Amino acid sequence: MQISAPPDHEIVVIGAGFAGIGFGIKLLDAGFADFVILDEADGVGGTWHWNTYPGIAVDIPSFSYQYSFEPRPTWTRTYAPGRELKRYAEHCVDKYGLRPYLRLGTSISSAEYDEDRNLWRLTTAAGEVSTARFVINAAGVLTRPNLPDIAGIDDFAGAVMHTSRWDHDQELDGKRIGIIGTGASAVQVIPEIASRAEHLTVFQRTPIWCLPKPDVPLAGSFRWTLRRVPGAQRVVRAASQAFVEVTFPIAAHFHGILPAGPLGERFGRAYLRRQVDDPVVRDKLTPRYGLGCKRPSFHNSYLRTFNRPNVHLETSSITHIDDSAVHTADGARHGIDVLILATGFKVMDPGNMPTYRLLGAGGRDLERWWHEHRLHAYEGVSVPGFPNHFAIFGPYGYNGSSYFALIEAQTAHILRCLKQARAVRANHIEVTAEANERFFAEMLARRRHQIFWQDSCATANSYYFDIHGDVPLRPTTTVESAWRSTHFPLDDYQFQRIDAS
Ligand code: NAP
Repeated sequence: MQISAPPDHEIVVIGAGFAGIGFGIKLLDAGFADFVILDEADGVGGTWHWNTYPGIAVDIPSFSYQYSFEPRPTWTRTYAPGRELKRYAEHCVDKYGLRPYLRLGTSISSAEYDEDRNLWRLTTAAGEVSTARFVINAAGVLTRPNLPDIAGIDDFAGAVMHTSRWDHDQELDGKRIGIIGTGASAVQVIPEIASRAEHLTVFQRTPIWCLPKPDVPLAGSFRWTLRRVPGAQRVVRAASQAFVEVTFPIAAHFHGILPAGPLGERFGRAYLRRQVDDPVVRDKLTPRYGLGCKRPSFHNSYLRTFNRPNVHLETSSITHIDDSAVHTADGARHGIDVLILATGFKVMDPGNMPTYRLLGAGGRDLERWWHEHRLHAYEGVSVPGFPNHFAIFGPYGYNGSSYFALIEAQTAHILRCLKQARAVRANHIEVTAEANERFFAEMLARRRHQIFWQDSCATANSYYFDIHGDVPLRPTTTVESAWRSTHFPLDDYQFQRIDAS
């Protein structure tokens, strides 16, 4: 095979959120220097760059929502606000010298594998073409806003904004605001804007399980201890990890063995009773699906916001929107000045997995291939037929723990492949079809204990489920994910050298 010219870059990382930043740090650590990190945004931080709506904060404890190798002793709260996470992203980029590797404002629209040259040809939305030997998809999944296809929405004459594209110049005080959606973003926005609006109408399709959040300010003395007392950060992180592990992955994936769901639901309903005065409103806010079928939320004032006289919970479905109002199936017309779309993201929807068109060997289109063969990727990272392409957010990669645990595990997996290729002077890495199928069969066999297969999940409208009815979350503990990322059999990949003849 003839290789006419080397690629522009050895490695291209797509996405400068925490996945791309973490991967870049580890690349430098391992001595790889010929790489770039691309992002369509004009800043780093991914989610925390785009999402700046009022009230935004993480809902995994800050001590887990950070890289294990870069603990931050200065978090101001147990659950960091969004602006601190954005600052943490900037800090990591500067501390680890990643700035020169960033190419911001660069949106990749397609990646095509050139078999003759054993490289990837990347095309940007602006039509520029560059090449890379290896491509790492770190673009995330909660990336593309889901804009609802509601009749007449384009006729609305007032302001419209999606939560992930917040317009801070938009006046909210004294306005009639409508918000569509009651997912995690809405749960954080609603209490913040309710006190500013003349009237707030919340259009709810499916109620969310909302549990209290142990969110407290961290005292200066506590932060001093974290900074100065040897081992303090490790202890706090271990406690935080244990909490996250029990409340997310263990509760979800080992539900058949340790059924904590009913207990959590009783607790959630009791909390709802304490928070919401009106029994009719409370009933409307009560989820009819099991806790865990879809992502629950954590907030200390969301539910009681519905006690406010200027807040109306609308559960009749939206029929259409005109220039000044949202109309619902019960015949009501809800006059609105500002419409907020808290309608989430395209997750496993077409065009989002991945966020760019991906054509592998023989022109195999990943999206179509997944459509035909169900979503799966070896260890959540790689797919046969797509040599030298790896994903940090692939199916069966994430187990519901902190994203940072996922990022570090998948980074370790990919780097192990890259280092092995370097050691054996290979420039072509491809997972075998057998390894991929074996992994998928294992994931399917292990899902029988997951919480998602209870009957009530059918009514949850959960984005965890893909069009095949699968939930491509990894049914393992975080410890197992981490262990496997450094111990998978290297024989599961083919490492080859494709040289100029
Ligand atoms: P989401 O959880 O997908 O919620 C979207 C909401 O919009 C749902 O209530 C959905 O109703 C509703 N909706 C969508 N299309 C609609 C339509 N056409 N008509 C009426 N309602 C419609 O999105 P999100 O709240 O942005 O959260 C997405 C994810 O981001 C979360 O699950 C979480 O992983 C992450 N997140 C995390 C945090 C945090 O850590 N603090 C904060 C925000 C977001 P249905 O339920 O009926 O579909």
